Amino acid sequence: MKLQILKPASLFILIASCSNPAENSFQKAVESINAENLASHVAVLGSDEYEGRKPFSKGEDKTVNYLAAQMERIGLEPGFGDSYFQDVEMAEITSFMDKPAIVKSDNKDLLLFFPDDIAIISKKTSDIIEIENSEMIFAGFGIVAPEYNWDDYENIDVKGKTVVVFVNDPGLYTDDENLFKGKTMTYYGRWTYKIEEAERQGAKGILIIHETLGAGYPYDIPRKSALNSNFYLAEDANAESNLMFNGWVSAKTGENFFESFGMNVDSLRTLSCTKDFAGFPLNSNISLKISNIWEYNTSRNVVGLIRGNKKPEECIVYSAHWDHFGIGEAENGDSIYNGAVDNGTSLAWMLEIAEAYKKLGIPPARSIVIMAPTAEEQGLLGSKWYTQHPVIPVEKTLACINNDMLLPIGRMKDVMVTGFGQSELDNLVEEVALKQDRYIYPDPNPHTGMYFRSDHFSFAQQGVPSLFIRGNCDSREFGKEWAAEQEKDYINNRYHRPADNYYPETWDFSGIVEDAQMAFEIGYRLCNLKEFPKWNESSEFKSLRD
Ligand SMILES: [Zn+2]
Repeated sequence: MKLQILKPASLFILIASCSNPAENSFQKAVESINAENLASHVAVLGSDEYEGRKPFSKGEDKTVNYLAAQMERIGLEPGFGDSYFQDVEMAEITSFMDKPAIVKSDNKDLLLFFPDDIAIISKKTSDIIEIENSEMIFAGFGIVAPEYNWDDYENIDVKGKTVVVFVNDPGLYTDDENLFKGKTMTYYGRWTYKIEEAERQGAKGILIIHETLGAGYPYDIPRKSALNSNFYLAEDANAESNLMFNGWVSAKTGENFFESFGMNVDSLRTLSCTKDFAGFPLNSNISLKISNIWEYNTSRNVVGLIRGNKKPEECIVYSAHWDHFGIGEAENGDSIYNGAVDNGTSLAWMLEIAEAYKKLGIPPARSIVIMAPTAEEQGLLGSKWYTQHPVIPVEKTLACINNDMLLPIGRMKDVMVTGFGQSELDNLVEEVALKQDRYIYPDPNPHTGMYFRSDHFSFAQQGVPSLFIRGNCDSREFGKEWAAEQEKDYINNRYHRPADNYYPETWDFSGIVEDAQMAFEIGYRLCNLKEFPKWNESSEFKSLRD
């Protein structure tokens, strides 16, 4: 291997760099990122032995110990005294319904079976939740957005009642680019927002009508998450304001449901997209009984760092969640939800970046925080906790560079920027992408609200400009159509399913190598920037930083 140095190309780098040792060590660090290392991490973290890496499980112990051992091997300083672990107290609640929910109206009674018709969960640490004849109110998209002069709750009182709403926001279903953000989902479109708003309105429960385009995934995803246990930060579980239940109904159930009132669900959605729409009582009520199994326990974020040599009190954070869904409903005889792509790939990406920083020889100007949060799949809980209890304050955090689900399909021409246009970081991405002969590709599916769906969002919510970037849309070898097929194949057949395994024969890590090199260089440049990167004027997060 050492003989390679004598190859002409390498020799040139060697000579050229004699005059610039910093550039030389930088280039060495970039080149240290390699496919073999990435593969070795995924092989371990995605193995059956890790049992799908669910919080509170044996799989958690194995995962966090592996990550801490890797951080130690790489030479990262522990984030918390002599420990890489940050305790995150959470409640785990598993909800189920033995009997179907009953919707009673003048016309007829409708039975909604769990979990195929109705995917219900409860954020209450109570053994039994019994809802009897709760009045149902339709509230359009369930949005109160003063900046868009929009209030779906304007003329209705939902206190103690059950709200029924559509997913996403009105912009998606019209061709009006000026309605909300057009096809780009705003946070008002996310199901998490719908629940938060219903809580603020004092409702007892909420049902969101599923629709694949608007949700960004099939009904099977909320269905599975209702079958699984769900996690909450301990301080949030059982809060006074919590709804007694929240959940989804399948599109088909939604259709039947409105049909029983003589309404067509599509016409109703169109109506709900108009400014003068007003919510209304459905003249019906719902009864259901939920049994909960719950416990409080401690999970862990894993955090290591490299202290900067000029401004150690300021940092750049790299993050990739370690958790997945553990062991659950079997498919084709497999019940382990390995999460090799989601998120074994990004953990490998992050560890390789950390190792590259150590290969610089001297520490970067600012500190580098390497963070693997818990419970991302459960609502970004670990990263939310971290941003409230950071190693280096969020005001001193220049940026978060997060990743989630890197597809192992080879080198890509594009760099897909999820949430493109949010901050000045986009310029930096563009520069580094150009160096790699790649181009920026704004998220082709902004209606799925991906910017709100991984840990960078926890940082954005604290005002830290954040990036979620990866090659995704244009294969160097096979082009765009092929890349889109690969993604679709993953989302339809492996995403959040037991088949999300590591397949050594077919996986090609070369694109992830480039993604890691790019993220490394972006962070490295951020370390040397004079000023903190800013949010763009139009960003909803700008005021948080200011
Ligand atoms: Zn993920």
